[in-house]
Amino acid sequence: MLSVIIPAYNEAENINPAAEAIGSVLRAAGIGYELIFVNDGSTDASWESITRLSEQDPAVRGLCFSRNFGKEAAIFAGISAAEGDCCVVIDCDLQHPPEKIVDMYRLWEQGFEVIEGVKAHRGKETAGYGLAARLFYKLISRSTGMDLMNASDFRLLDRKAMDSLLTMGEQHAFFRALSSWIGFRTATVEFDVCERNAGETKWTTRALVRYALTNITSFTSAPMQLITVMGVITLIVSIIMGVVALYQKFSGVALGGFTTVIILQLFTGSLVMMSLGIIGHYLAKIYDELKARPRYIISASCGKRQEDKP
Ligand code: UDP
Ligand code: MG
Repeated sequence: MLSVIIPAYNEAENINPAAEAIGSVLRAAGIGYELIFVNDGSTDASWESITRLSEQDPAVRGLCFSRNFGKEAAIFAGISAAEGDCCVVIDCDLQHPPEKIVDMYRLWEQGFEVIEGVKAHRGKETAGYGLAARLFYKLISRSTGMDLMNASDFRLLDRKAMDSLLTMGEQHAFFRALSSWIGFRTATVEFDVCERNAGETKWTTRALVRYALTNITSFTSAPMQLITVMGVITLIVSIIMGVVALYQKFSGVALGGFTTVIILQLFTGSLVMMSLGIIGHYLAKIYDELKARPRYIISASCGKRQEDKP
């Protein structure tokens, strides 16, 4: 059986169309499936839609978070609830074409264990967004050695891959990178990002920046090493400036140079503050991990688990 995991945050109008689209594709292909909707603390009627659907359709189950915990948390909740031999993670807004699930499933049948959906073209995005995304993925790719530029959360995982993901207890799990990091026999399936079905994207610029920072710092300590590099550079500069200053002092032209002092002060000041900020960010991360809080809290669930069915 295939478990389809669908994170949903304020997607009331999309629940039924998504279930219908995915269900009909899988039924036509003769693939046994269950749909697991994870309601990520929606403030609209998403949860009502999910419970209603689960009463009509025995293949549908739902989990409800006590508040918004983010898409990554929703994905992990889905994986740990999944009962299938493999699972697919797919967006609720039908931006990931459901037909591709069948292609992924066929590859899984051939023995592949992680099948990644790769964007053939990135959907419509503004120039600024595209640039920021490229920068973010460059950084991540550089530091992890994985090419995530066109990666997406749309992917199929074998039971083995699911289980190994579940053993990772980190608070800030970056699903896309982690599911590549675990290895296994990997294949890719290209897909075109479709238009959103209804509603609009849940990402604000602020949320995206936070997402980028969290994922960079949870996957690499490169920013900390950058501090050392900046330190070495300022050291070299200060040696040069020091020699110049000493030379000026002994040749009797030491007065003046006040502008240089001010600029140096400001420069080193901001460098130190920035470095402290970066270190602080990692400290906060360590603190978060140390508290070892659960990644999400489930307040309700609906639908029947496979093993409870008569
Ligand atoms: N999502 C979620 N929790 C969040 C934000 C988004 O579960 O805090 C879900 C959302 O319901 C959708 C998927 O993640 O199924 C992708 O979200 P969205 O379409 O807003 O992102 P985009 O496609 O613009 O990257
Ligand atoms: Mg979307």
